[in-house]
Amino acid sequence: MSLEQLEKLRTQLDEINFDILRLLNARAGVVEEIGQVKRLQGIEAFDPEREKQMLDLLVKENPGPFDDNTIRYLFKQIFQASLGLQEEQEKKPLLVSRKRRQEDTVVTIGNVRFGGGAPVVVAGPCSVENERQMELVGQGLQQQGIQVMRGGAYKPRTSPYDFQGLGEEGLKLLRKTSDRYGMLAISEIVSPSDVEMALDYVDVIQIGARNMQNFELLKVVGAVKKPVLLKRGLSATIEEFLYAAEYIMSRGNDQVILCERGIRTYEKATRNTLDISAVPILKQESHLPVLVDITHSTGRKDIMEPIARAALAVGADGIMVEVHPEPSVALSDAKQQLNIPQFETLMNALRNAKYLPSIPAVTAR
Ligand code: PEP
Ligand code: MN
Repeated sequence: MSLEQLEKLRTQLDEINFDILRLLNARAGVVEEIGQVKRLQGIEAFDPEREKQMLDLLVKENPGPFDDNTIRYLFKQIFQASLGLQEEQEKKPLLVSRKRRQEDTVVTIGNVRFGGGAPVVVAGPCSVENERQMELVGQGLQQQGIQVMRGGAYKPRTSPYDFQGLGEEGLKLLRKTSDRYGMLAISEIVSPSDVEMALDYVDVIQIGARNMQNFELLKVVGAVKKPVLLKRGLSATIEEFLYAAEYIMSRGNDQVILCERGIRTYEKATRNTLDISAVPILKQESHLPVLVDITHSTGRKDIMEPIARAALAVGADGIMVEVHPEPSVALSDAKQQLNIPQFETLMNALRNAKYLPSIPAVTAR
């Protein structure tokens, strides 16, 4: 064999080495993704059964000249190194965690800042019903300097016979009204296939309590460039709530606002039980802004003011409250929505007690 031939074979070997290197790292990328999925699902990183399967398959397909034991040995080394990668990953705190990011996340949209110090009030009807209703609420909210208007267009109702919302038509009406009165618009989306369409109408996508663990929906809103308000599930622990937010963040969307909206307990005096301690815990454990929904957590108008005070006193970055021009005829949540004068009284009380700043002169958009 000439020296020239040797040189050629060495070059060939180098190229194969590079191929192996590239493939090893591509494999590591897939391993990291698997690790992430396993971590989110709470599955153990090491799976001896799966490792055995992979080795058996490799041995079965082994064309030689390496004998089966050598193949087993080599691939075991690769598996070992991959497991090391997953374990490294596991040591990293979650993206939602305060350990991962010390500073508060401030979700900024126009001149509205969720988590920026001054509390944000999100108000509006439970459901978007018609133009006149939206117009009346819009006027009332504008007079109170409200910067973010809510209104449900897709309503996850307990009974299939109840009003289900106006759908896209509702989103259009919400957009029209919030534009007219210089407010941002927030609305709940319940289906992954509606997310893209909703981007044209809303400034914040709401994920409702019933969908907090709709992982496919979380993944879709995690992949868009639009802030997401995530409500705590009816019987979700704080840990599960944070993992749901992690689903969104892990897909690249870091504009997440958490919303405590009460949990289900044996207590019947309120619609849900507001877990007030969740607010400082969420603020401590994560860097995300936290709102409190004072309407769905209580289902009672008579305690809204003290509940709002409590929420803001324990560090909530804002509150959500349902307001309707004529609650008694509302198509959803008729019992719990405030009318416009009641809302004014609430806002005045919170301002007088310095829980909220005085009415800002500027509008949101
Ligand atoms: C809502 O805010 O319109 C709503 C349905 O609330 P939740 O998802 O918290 O029940
Ligand atoms: Mn409601």
